Amino acid sequence: MAQPPPSPIGLHRVLEPHGVLPQAAYRLDATAPTTADEVRIDVERLNLDAASFRQLHSAHNGDGAAIRGAVLDIIGERGKMHNPVTGSGGMLIGTVAEVGPDSPLGLSVGDRVATLVSLTLTPLIVHDELREWDGLSEQVPCSATATLFARSIAAVLPPDLPAELALAVFDVCGAPALTSRIVTRHRELRGRAATVAVLGAAGKSGSLSLAAARDAGAISTLGVVRDENERRGLTASGLADDVVIADATDAVGVSAAVTAALGARADVTVVCVDVPGCEHGAILSTNDGGTVVFFSMATSFPAAALGAEGLAADVEMLIGNGYTPGHAEYALNLLRKDSAIRDMFERRLRAEA
Ligand code: NAP
Repeated sequence: MAQPPPSPIGLHRVLEPHGVLPQAAYRLDATAPTTADEVRIDVERLNLDAASFRQLHSAHNGDGAAIRGAVLDIIGERGKMHNPVTGSGGMLIGTVAEVGPDSPLGLSVGDRVATLVSLTLTPLIVHDELREWDGLSEQVPCSATATLFARSIAAVLPPDLPAELALAVFDVCGAPALTSRIVTRHRELRGRAATVAVLGAAGKSGSLSLAAARDAGAISTLGVVRDENERRGLTASGLADDVVIADATDAVGVSAAVTAALGARADVTVVCVDVPGCEHGAILSTNDGGTVVFFSMATSFPAAALGAEGLAADVEMLIGNGYTPGHAEYALNLLRKDSAIRDMFERRLRAEA
C-alpha cells in the first residue's frame, strides 16, 4: 500500500483504524523515519497519568513486575502508551535528537524537553525493556524513542527546577490554567468573586488548582481531601482557606461537607480526584449557574450529563482540556511563587519513588 503523505497532525502514522486521528487510533507506526516536519526525541523518562497508573496498580495487585510487563505490552502493541482501560497516557521528558527541516516547533538538537501532548498520541518505542523501573511509580526511567508531529507542544525544561519536578507540574498544568480562567470569568460576568471547592485538593492538580483559584481572585477556597493525613498537610500548606475530609465518591457526604464549610454550594467545583465516581458529588456541591471543571480522567461523561439532568442541576460542566495557552509557564510560576506547592509536589514524588 502507498505511504500516506506526511500530515502535521500525524495521520501518516496511524496504522489502525485508517483515517482516525492518532489519539483515537488503536495502533501507531512508531518505527517510520522522522519526516520533514517531525521531531525525534531520545526519551529518558515517562510520567504515567495518575488514573492510568492507579488502574494498572490495582489490576496487577501492586506487583511491580506485572505492571512493568503490562506497560511494555501496551507500548509494544499500540506504538504509544495508551492505557486501554482508562484511555489516558501521560507525558515524557527527553532530549531532541533530530529536527526535521520543516518543523515549526522551534526546537534544536540537544534541547532537553518535556512533551505537553499526551502519550496517547505520541509514537513511542522502548529500547531497554524498562529495566530501570520497578513498576511501582508513575515516573518511569527508560531508554526510548518518541516522535512529535508538526502540530504539537513541547517545553524546554526550566534550568531552575529538577526534571522530575518540572515533568510532574507539566503533566497537570492544564488544571490551574483552566481554573484561573473560570474563576476570572465568574468575577467578570457576575460582578463578584467566586467560591471554589477543589475535590482531591491534596494531589498535584488539586494543589495547583487551589493556588490558581486564589491567584485569580476567588473569595474563598475549600480543599476536599480524603483523610486526616492529607487534611493536616494541606492545612499546614496554607493553600486553602479551609480544608475538609470527605470521600469524593460519596455524593451526599461530599456535598454536605462542601455546603457546611462554605455556607452554600460552591460557585466553581474542580474535580482533581484520580478515581471514578465523583461526578454526582461535584454536581451536588455546585451552585445553580455555577461551573464544574472535570479535570479527572476518571470522569464519566454519561454519569456527569445524566446525573446533572437527573438532579435538575443548572450547572455548566467542562471537560478539563489539558491545553490552555501559556499553561506550562503559569503552573511553573505558581510553584516558584509558593514554596508550599513545591513541598507538596516533592513529598508526593518522594512517596512515589
Ligand atoms: P494525584 O496527585 O494522585 O491527586 C489525586 C488526589 O485525589 C490524591 O490526593 C488522592 O488521595 C485523592 N483522592 C483519591 N480518591 C479520593 C476520594 N475518594 N475522595 C477524595 N480524594 C480522593 O493526581 P493528579 O496527578 O493531580 O491527577 C488527578 C486527575 O487528573 C487524574 O484523574 C489524572 O488522570 C487527571 N489528569 C488530567 C489531565 C487533563 O489534561 N485533563 C492531565 C493530567 C492528569 P490519595 O493520594 O490518598 O489516593
